[in-house]
Amino acid sequence: MNTLSKLPALEQVIQRFQIATRKSLGQHFLLDTSITDTIVRYAGLLEHSHVVEVGPGPGGLTRSLLKAGAKKLFVIEKDERCLEALAQIKEAVGDQLEIIMGDALEIDLVQAVPAPRKIVANLPYNVGTLMLLNWLESIYIHGPQAFESLTLMFQKEVAERIIAEPSSKDFGRLSVISQWLCECRYDMELPPTAFSPPPKVDSSVITLTPRAKPLVDVRKEVLEMVVAKAFNQRRKMLRSSLKGLAVPADELLALAGIDGSLRAEQLDVMTLCNLARHYQDRM
Ligand code: SAM
Repeated sequence: MNTLSKLPALEQVIQRFQIATRKSLGQHFLLDTSITDTIVRYAGLLEHSHVVEVGPGPGGLTRSLLKAGAKKLFVIEKDERCLEALAQIKEAVGDQLEIIMGDALEIDLVQAVPAPRKIVANLPYNVGTLMLLNWLESIYIHGPQAFESLTLMFQKEVAERIIAEPSSKDFGRLSVISQWLCECRYDMELPPTAFSPPPKVDSSVITLTPRAKPLVDVRKEVLEMVVAKAFNQRRKMLRSSLKGLAVPADELLALAGIDGSLRAEQLDVMTLCNLARHYQDRM
């Protein structure tokens, strides 16, 4: 029988197992079930998926994921002090939960968890971007079979960079690489008061859904290199920011049919990817 509802309140769990939050681990816990339930709804149906939660902490979001009927939930937590709180949840749900203690940055989720996989996480802010970059690499290598979707809480400023539209101040390398591989959706925003302890900044939940194929067929390292160059001096015109590549900037821009007096941030994702593709073809 599912006895999740009989578990003690998270505040009690934190007190009993003495999980005083640590800044070094980016620990800002969600203790309000209505918030964690809402985040889980953005992840869609979970009944047929192996869900991965990175950084379950004392287990608030974990409980909501289990309650929503995740076929199986794999939690990966670095902080040993959370183990007893998580073990208490496992006692309630049995095989529906698998606890992995370790550093999620060192675990290849595609190896560790069987498909179909979804990631749902309130990420530690200090390493959230790095984790996303690792998962994008998995999507590049394995295609959409890597993950059905990733529903992730970031600090708002990072979420805005991921989903940014061209010509906005947030549009840059992270937007291009994310949107090249995934459709990116803005789900919700949370104020600092939603967390214990409150972080200094607002937070946002976004969902990335891997595309059937990347927007443009180009090697990732080439795209990263060209986009890094284009945005390195983002106020400069492309004909000067792209100088120093193996293909002369003017020639490359002509091949791609792009006006060299534009700045990188004025191009859309598809055009930037096509620029990289022309570079790859001409190299
Ligand atoms: N999911 C919980 C919640 O929403 O209340 C906790 C979220 S808290 C923002 C981030 C969690 O990630 C913490 O529990 C922290 O210990 C854990 N964490 C930090 N770095 C980690 C890493 N490299 N691998 C796995 N977990 C990590």
